Amino acid sequence: MSKVHNFSAGPCILPQEVLKQASEAVINFNNLNLSLLEISHRSKDFVEVMEKAQALVKELLDVPDGYSVLFLQGGASLGFLKAAYNFMKEDGSAAYLNTGTWANKAQKEAARLGTIIEVASSADKNYSYIPKNYQIPGSADYLHITTNNTIFGTQLKNIPISRIPIIADMSSDIFSKKINVADFDMIYAGAQKNMGPAGTTLYIVKDSALGKTGRNIPAMLDLQVHIKKESMFNTPPVYPIYVSMLNLQWLKDNGGVDWIEKINEQKAALLYNEIDNNPLFKGTAEVDSRSNMNPTFVLTNDALKDEFDAMWQAANISGIKGHRDVGGYRASMYNALPLESVQVLVDVMKEFTKKHG
Ligand SMILES: *Cc1c(COP(=O)(O)O)cnc(C)c1O
Repeated sequence: MSKVHNFSAGPCILPQEVLKQASEAVINFNNLNLSLLEISHRSKDFVEVMEKAQALVKELLDVPDGYSVLFLQGGASLGFLKAAYNFMKEDGSAAYLNTGTWANKAQKEAARLGTIIEVASSADKNYSYIPKNYQIPGSADYLHITTNNTIFGTQLKNIPISRIPIIADMSSDIFSKKINVADFDMIYAGAQKNMGPAGTTLYIVKDSALGKTGRNIPAMLDLQVHIKKESMFNTPPVYPIYVSMLNLQWLKDNGGVDWIEKINEQKAALLYNEIDNNPLFKGTAEVDSRSNMNPTFVLTNDALKDEFDAMWQAANISGIKGHRDVGGYRASMYNALPLESVQVLVDVMKEFTKKHG
């Protein structure tokens, strides 16, 4: 089997050793002669998995006391609604920074429950930059941000200074770099971009911020219910939680977030350097807003598309076709993607340009 360089935007690459361990647990988990898929979520063996996954999140992100870690269902898309239900007061309002498709969807869901104040938007330039110098209304219940815009290849370099609580969708850059959890009342992330497989969503929630909206929250959307039941109000997605745990253990064993942050910076520098210096390519995001996770770029001459596509396919590169809203290419470089894979892509870009030089 020849090695594939997997730049998929999500679900995305996971470490080979994680996949191997995960596959073994399907047949014989913990030497129980039972599959992880056929035991109770309340069994000692699975409860240990859940506790270990939560402990790894706390350790890797240095989560302070007073925060709960949850593994729930519904994807980040249900998180959009959970944010509003749990943090927007009845008759309240919330501020949203509109930096892309997902940010926009988050804001549309919250608009079902109350007044939305869009503090800034980069929709005017197809979300190719992160807005600066906007006012955050002190009267809003929270500010919602999307730290990395998976589709448009932009990323917040700094968390806004805000007097009101911040809620962040970190689906596509959680665990890619250090963060200060205390800056947020809630962080949430679908697992399938940088934590594990699709099917579970991570929530890191400040306990003291909950229970203040005056709303009658449906149980499945009520974070206090899930905290009380330790993510087992109903049957949790056992397998995605298990594989996420393995992946977080992989990250810890290799040196944690400090280690991966440096590698992610190297990968991004390598690719952006080629995009900027190769006359046949052009980045689509403004330089100071560029994402280290999802670099987006286009050919300067569209007529060469078929030829370039054939070349990267021949090099066993997979998943770099751009999102339909941006076109061109998107090379997603999540934690498990090795630097060598980025080098292969850069070599193909160089080779391509040499042929046309
Ligand atoms: C993929 C993505 C989502 C949607 O996640 P689901 O788990 O599919 O609901 C939300 N926000 C961001 C930033 C994403 O990248």
